[in-house]
Amino acid sequence: MSSGDRAITDADTLVSVLSGTIPDERVLEAVRSVPRPAFVPPELRAEAWHNVALPIGGGQTISQPLVVARMLELLRLRGDELVLDIGTGSGYHAALLARLARRVISIERRPELSRKAAASLAAAGIDNVELVIGDGSLGLAKRAPFDAINVAAASDLEALRALGGQLAAGGRLVAPLAEDASHPDLQRLVVLRAHPRGLTIWRCEPVRFVPLVSDARGPREPPEPPTA
Ligand code: SAH
Repeated sequence: MSSGDRAITDADTLVSVLSGTIPDERVLEAVRSVPRPAFVPPELRAEAWHNVALPIGGGQTISQPLVVARMLELLRLRGDELVLDIGTGSGYHAALLARLARRVISIERRPELSRKAAASLAAAGIDNVELVIGDGSLGLAKRAPFDAINVAAASDLEALRALGGQLAAGGRLVAPLAEDASHPDLQRLVVLRAHPRGLTIWRCEPVRFVPLVSDARGPREPPEPPTA
């Protein structure tokens, strides 16, 4: 990768790390253009361009850039899509989706995270993300159908199939699937595609996400560790 005669930035370094696994130039350009430091707590900014997940408060994390880039690659966005993002967290994944699609609706059940994400998105100059506070485990039927759905928390197949019902024809859903209820940490990225005769599912590599907490149907969120 050539950086011309300008200085090599932290963003370039992250992109060159990701490019070993992710060949999709649009995804790499999105990663380069979204300032990840705007989405992490101030005390962790020095690590913001590293390829690592970081805590964002409330026991939640901003996902590892490589995993986010892989999920974006699997969604194969072209630029004209309406995307539903479930689990806003820091808002970073939503920001990248917003660079690759027309409009993103991102839903988060923790109001304090959604409020911080709003500030981060504004600081990053991203104005095509709409934030919704609520339980996204059932999708957002009143705004469906979606051309793409990104799920940033681990779900079972039944939940993903229900969400897949909110896809437009030909649409794709990418999510971490936890298939064995007794081992919720054993997860795989999956792609669901909406075909005229139903959903197809494609299983990809193992990943590790926090669970999608359903206020309506479980699983229950583990208790938070006491803070010092
Ligand atoms: N996409 C985020 C990381 C997601 S972490 C980022 O880029 O930073 C998973 C997020 O999903 C957490 O913020 C958690 O609060 C949220 N979440 C879990 N269950 C949810 C639900 N049912 N509806 C909406 N958000 C949920």
